[in-house]
Amino acid sequence: MARVYNFSAGPSMLPEEVLKKAAAEMLDYEGSGQSVMEMSHRSKVYDKIIKDAEALLRELMNIPDNYKVLFLQGGASTQFAAIPLNFMNKNNKADYIITGQWAKKAFAEAQKYGEARAVASSADKTFSYIPKVSKEEFTPDADYVYICMNNTIYGTVYHEIPDTGDIPLIADISSCFLSEPLDVSKFAMVYGGAQKNVAPAGLTICIIREDMLGNARDITPTMLDYKIHADNDSLYNTPPCYTIYICKLVLEWLKDLGGLEAMKERNEKKAKILYDFLDNSKMFRGTVVKEDRSLMNVPFVTDSEELNAKFIKEATEAGFVNLKGHRTVGGMRASIYNAMPVEGVEKLVAFMKDFEEANS
Ligand SMILES: *Cc1c(COP(=O)(O)O)cnc(C)c1O
Repeated sequence: MARVYNFSAGPSMLPEEVLKKAAAEMLDYEGSGQSVMEMSHRSKVYDKIIKDAEALLRELMNIPDNYKVLFLQGGASTQFAAIPLNFMNKNNKADYIITGQWAKKAFAEAQKYGEARAVASSADKTFSYIPKVSKEEFTPDADYVYICMNNTIYGTVYHEIPDTGDIPLIADISSCFLSEPLDVSKFAMVYGGAQKNVAPAGLTICIIREDMLGNARDITPTMLDYKIHADNDSLYNTPPCYTIYICKLVLEWLKDLGGLEAMKERNEKKAKILYDFLDNSKMFRGTVVKEDRSLMNVPFVTDSEELNAKFIKEATEAGFVNLKGHRTVGGMRASIYNAMPVEGVEKLVAFMKDFEEANS
C-alpha cells in the first residue's frame, strides 16, 4: 500500500528516510547484534546514541553551554506539574498567558501549587489570536512567566517572544520544536513532547538554564525533580531509549537538510501554499488572525458542517488522512510538521480546489 499523507496533530509523520534507516538497523544496530530496543541503557553502544542525540540537538538549536538538555518520559503534560514544583519556589507566584487548551491545562496544574495568575487570555475569541502583553503587565515578583509558543489545536504562534524583563520565561514548544531557529537564551526553559516534530511518542525534551535548577520544593517527587535528571545525564532511571534513538535519526536528517534555517524556509513555503489558497477560496477559510498564524497547524472551515464532513470523508479516501479539526474548533486542521513534504501540501491544495469546484 502507498503511504498516505498524514496531517495528524500528533503523533505525526516521521521522515521516510528515518523510518527506512530504523528498519535497516532494526535487527542489528551497528554490529552490536541487537536492536536498540533491546540494549541496556547503561551500555557503551547506547551511551553513544544518547550523547550524539544531545550533541546534535545542541548544535542544531544553538543551545548555550549554560543550559541542560534532559531526555525524559511523561509527556509535555507531566511538565505542567513539574514546572511549578521546580520553579514556583521564591514568591510562590507565576504568570500564565492563556492561548489555548495546553496553556489552560498548565495553568490549572500550577494553581494547585501556588498563586498562578492568568495575565491574559484569548478565550473570548476561541483562541484565534495571541494576546499582546507588555512587560509592565506581568507580576513584578512572579517566579516565572509561562507561555505556549505554538497552539496546536487553534493554529496560532508567537512570532515574537514576549519581553518579560527579568522574570524567567518558560515555553511549551511541543508543536514547533525544531521547525525554525529559536533563540534559546531568551528563555529560562523550553520543553516539548517529541511526538509532533522530533520523534515518536514517549520522549519529552526539556532545555533548562542551569541557574534555575536546585530549588525544587521538598514535596517534589524525585522523578519530577529536574536537578536529579540533570545530575544523572538523563539516566537516573531508564530513559525512553528507542525514542531517543529515533530522535537522533531525525536530528541527523535535519542536519543533512541544512539545519533549522533550511527547515524554516521549507515550512514557510508549505504554509504559504495552504494559506494563499485559503485566502482566495470561496468555500474554505482559515480560522485565526493572519498575523498570528502558525506554520505548523492550520485550522480551516467551510460554512457548512455537512460540507466539512463530506470533505474529510473524501480527503481520507484520497489518502489525505487525519484532517478532522479538534472537537473544540470543529472543521478541519492540517498539521504540516517538518516531515510533511512540500508535495503533500501541494497535493492537498489541488484536492481542495477540485472539491470546491465539484461542490459549488
Ligand atoms: C501535544 C501537546 C501537548 C501534550 O503533550 P503530551 O506529550 O501528550 O502530554 C502539550 N502542549 C502542546 C503545545 C502540544 O501540542
